[in-house]
Amino acid sequence: MIREDSILQVDLRIPYTFTTGEVVGTFLGYLKDGQLMGVECEKCQTRFFPPLDLCEQCGASRWRWVKVPDVWEIVLVVPLPRKAHDLVFVKTGGFYGSALLLADKGLEKGVRVRLSLKEAPEGRITDIIARRL
Ligand SMILES: [Zn+2]
Repeated sequence: MIREDSILQVDLRIPYTFTTGEVVGTFLGYLKDGQLMGVECEKCQTRFFPPLDLCEQCGASRWRWVKVPDVWEIVLVVPLPRKAHDLVFVKTGGFYGSALLLADKGLEKGVRVRLSLKEAPEGRITDIIARRL
């Protein structure tokens, strides 16, 4: 067993550049502009948030951009000790599956939350914070 005081925590920063692809790049652009957008599959009408390159239901890759609802529900909390936020999985009606996002501390499964953007979004998934209604 590793003792708590034998662990050294460091924050490593490694500059890295990669392509997002068209769908995720568009999504991140919307975030930077202050908009929360998901996608609806043109073939089977399944909705996803965050957007995907390929539909998990039918494999299609043609999308319509749709606004996402304000109100979501927490289905799982992942506490992050010593961090400003926890991680949560949230779901909402009309969208397939759940989204993994940052959340305010102290939220629990079943709590209804509003998805908010940071004051100055940078075009990153971490711009989104789930906050208690
Ligand atoms: Zn589909």
